[in-house]
Amino acid sequence: MRKIIIAIDGFSSCGKSTMAKDLAREIGYIYIDSGAMYRAVTLYCIENGLLHDGRIDADKLSHEIDNIHISFRPNAATGRPDTYLNGVNVEERIRTMEVSSQVSPVAALDFVREAMVKQQQEMGQAKGIVMDGRDIGTTVFPHAELKIFVTASPEIRAQRRYDELKAKGQAVDFDEILANVKQRDYIDQHRDVSPLRKADDALLLDNSHLTIEQQKAWLTEQFERVAGK
Ligand code: C5P
Repeated sequence: MRKIIIAIDGFSSCGKSTMAKDLAREIGYIYIDSGAMYRAVTLYCIENGLLHDGRIDADKLSHEIDNIHISFRPNAATGRPDTYLNGVNVEERIRTMEVSSQVSPVAALDFVREAMVKQQQEMGQAKGIVMDGRDIGTTVFPHAELKIFVTASPEIRAQRRYDELKAKGQAVDFDEILANVKQRDYIDQHRDVSPLRKADDALLLDNSHLTIEQQKAWLTEQFERVAGK
C-alpha cells in the first residue's frame, strides 16, 4: 500500500480526534491534532498576559509567535500523543473550558494560522500522516489523497463534550457547552482566513447516529480503497 495523507476536518466536538487517533494507530501512521496547536497558542496567551477579558494583544503575540514551538510526543499510558508547548507537557491544560472558550478568536488571527500551517506542512512532508482540524483538506494539505469532513448536530456534540469533561471530573454546565459549540462553529465558519468548509473533494460523514464501531469500519474501508490503489 502506498503512504498517503489523510485530512479529517469538521465541526468541534464531533469525534474527529478520536477517530483520527484510532485510525492512525491501526494503520501505523503519525497522528497530528492541529486543534491542539491552536489551543497551545491560546494557553501561551493566557499564561503570558496576552489575553484579557477576551481581548488579545495581537501585536505582542505577532512578535512572540516564532518563539512558540509546539510538538507531540507519545504517551505510553494513553497510547496517544501529548501536546508540548516549548518543551512542557500541556495536554491537560489545553483541554479546559477556559481555553475552549478563547481559542477560536486566537485561531482566527492570520499570522497565527500562517505559523501553525507552516509547522503542520513540515510534519506531513514524509506522508503517512493523519491530521485533523478545520482547514486541513482545504489549506494545509489541499492535495491530500483522502479527505473527510465530519459533522453531527450541535446538541449531540455538546452532549459528547459534556460527558467527556464530566468523566475527567470537571464542573460542567450543558447549556454553557452548547453555547460554546455554537459560538465556535460560527467563528470558525465566518473568519476571513481559512474558514471551516468542506473541500469539494472531501467525503461527508455525519456521525450523529453512528456507533464508534460503525464509524471505524467506514473509515478503514475508505483508507483501504484509496491507499490500495
Ligand atoms: O479541534 P479542537 O476543538 O480542539 O480545536 C480548537 C479550536 O482551534 C477550534 O474551535 C478552531 O477555532 C481552531 N482550529 C482551527 N484550525 C484547525 C484546528 C482547530 O482554526 N485546523
